[in-house]
Amino acid sequence: MSRIKRIRGAVQDYAWGKMSSENPLVKRIYDSQCAASSLPPSDLEKYAEIWLGTHPNAPSILIDSDSPTEGSTSNSTSLNDYITSSPTSTLGTHSSTSNIPYLLKILSINKVLSIQSHPDSTLAAQLHASNPDVYKTPCHKPEMAIALTDFKAMIGFRPLSLLWSNLQSYSEVESLVGESVYNGVKDAFERTGGMDFDNGSKGAVKELFTAFMRKYDEGGGGVKTLEEIKSPTDEIILKFNEMFPGDCGVLSPIFLNVIDCTPGQSIFVSSNTPHAYISGEIVECMARSDNVIRCGLTPKFKDVEVLCGSLSYDCFEPVVSGGVESGTKGERVYRPPVEDFEVRVADFKEDTVVEEVDAGVILLCLEGGGVVKSGEEKVDIKFGEALFINAGTKLEVEVGEQGCKFVRALRNVGSD
Ligand SMILES: [Zn+2]
Repeated sequence: MSRIKRIRGAVQDYAWGKMSSENPLVKRIYDSQCAASSLPPSDLEKYAEIWLGTHPNAPSILIDSDSPTEGSTSNSTSLNDYITSSPTSTLGTHSSTSNIPYLLKILSINKVLSIQSHPDSTLAAQLHASNPDVYKTPCHKPEMAIALTDFKAMIGFRPLSLLWSNLQSYSEVESLVGESVYNGVKDAFERTGGMDFDNGSKGAVKELFTAFMRKYDEGGGGVKTLEEIKSPTDEIILKFNEMFPGDCGVLSPIFLNVIDCTPGQSIFVSSNTPHAYISGEIVECMARSDNVIRCGLTPKFKDVEVLCGSLSYDCFEPVVSGGVESGTKGERVYRPPVEDFEVRVADFKEDTVVEEVDAGVILLCLEGGGVVKSGEEKVDIKFGEALFINAGTKLEVEVGEQGCKFVRALRNVGSD
């Protein structure tokens, strides 16, 4: 029985995606997968994301490479049907679920994504019960972003000392939230000397952010005092103001950390952490969920009260990780503190044996190519193509002339 299946993902043309004319990575990957399915290249205006997985909103399709039908997908079945029909052979003996617990994406970001957070499991269940049209599943959505190009993002609240210093620089905030809320943060700063590990400080930051977002939501905001650019934060605020004039998220860099990652660096976004990706092309992996609570920099539905009520208000310097060596030469593993997924990124320069894992794996070729073998089974793979590999499959990779770069997503096997 075949253990390696070729798959085709689904693209999303969200408004923040890169224009087709820029030839974004998402388009190039998707078109390569279309070619493998004997489909013509795609023809969208924008390319934001490609999804690889079994999420019901955009499940991947199994490409029957033995008998492709010109211009048709009628001989293809979904990856979801393939896995649920045989969960033990596809996902392994250790899996606690009957489906892939993760979703792998590539993002091509032209314009900042909405300021958002993702609910923990308890909140996700409550939101799904009360508003199933917006929160479509009762699942949490921790996520990880790994930079493929230079990548800029906002994540988490700034350490209290930086937050307080920004409040003094941007007088708009005090005039919007009022003196008593503003003084709450001032008191917290003076009491702790800028240290953040104090429930009183968290409470003050929560009052500040909530009051700010509510006032903005009522149409009370604006960027009035920024007539010249004096800092990188000014620069981002003005850029946001051009994209979303009058939006409550324009001043968010006052509150949130702004980070720059170089290729290979990653961030992990835990539940109830505010974040917004600003620019770059990235690998993103997450629990199999699409639950997003938005509050700014978006024309979509904003759930300001739910977002402000659920954030953890931890104020921290963001942790940027380059992953660790996986044990396979040329490969690094990015392992988050959740069971749902881990990501491995490999730059193979020579033929390599990839040991089996007790997990169903999605593999995407990001550069070069070669041949992936398991026993008698051989699959050619080149840039953009993707595979689903059954649990327990030992792979021999014959590397092509240009080497090959693979990203693999699987459940987190680090805690087995
Ligand atoms: Zn997110």
